Amino acid sequence: MELIDTHCHLDVAEFDADRQAVLARARAGGVNAIVVPGVLARTWDGLWNFCATDPGLYPALGMHPVYLDHHTDAGLQQLEARVDRQRPVAIGEIGLDYYVKGLDRDRQQRLFEVQLEIARAAGLPVILHVRKAHDAVLATLKRIRVRGGICHAFNGSLQQAEHYLALGFRLGFGGMLTFERSSRLRGLAQALPLEALVLETDAPDMTVAQHRGERNSPEYLPYCLAALAAVRGEPEQQVAARTTATARAVLGLDNYV
Ligand SMILES: [Zn+2]
Repeated sequence: MELIDTHCHLDVAEFDADRQAVLARARAGGVNAIVVPGVLARTWDGLWNFCATDPGLYPALGMHPVYLDHHTDAGLQQLEARVDRQRPVAIGEIGLDYYVKGLDRDRQQRLFEVQLEIARAAGLPVILHVRKAHDAVLATLKRIRVRGGICHAFNGSLQQAEHYLALGFRLGFGGMLTFERSSRLRGLAQALPLEALVLETDAPDMTVAQHRGERNSPEYLPYCLAALAAVRGEPEQQVAARTTATARAVLGLDNYV
């Protein structure tokens, strides 16, 4: 069984003490590939160098909307230059966050659009962070057509999901599915076609019910798989094979070197 963690911040300080051990345990559990999304320009070097240590690690570069105050025009120029030079697997994570208070929406929008333009020019997929802003993100994606990507930690409506799918996006589901209280999210994961879904942990954030209150880790991805398979009433093997194939296709991993 081969699994792909399509969203894991394995480059952050929470993993400094045991990053290689975590990676080894994840791999022992079948997690063969991990996408590491960028959030801040000043962390891109560390992320890039870490991903270069192992062929199963795939770097994405981007500026996360939550860190709006840290982003600069120089960072955007650097992103464009790096994309030319280094070829990340995707642009991300980028998007709009209307949930966190005090984030200027116009500035978020501009940051998002410039990064989408970079992705479009480079023909790269996009990893989206969207909270309470699906309609605004969808309207933007309809104007600035990228090749698709992943809407990470999806928690929108079925109708919004259909719009993402039509735009070439797939939907990331993870640890929240392991909690019984996530009934709305579980309903969504059951109702959507299996072809729409990919797995992610979002480690070190979130976590799974089996490790409540602890640091999240890519080694827990099999718990996310088990929860998704149970919710859908489908064999784990089938859900694993399909979500992995979807992730490989939407991110172009087979052509990535
Ligand atoms: Zn993230």
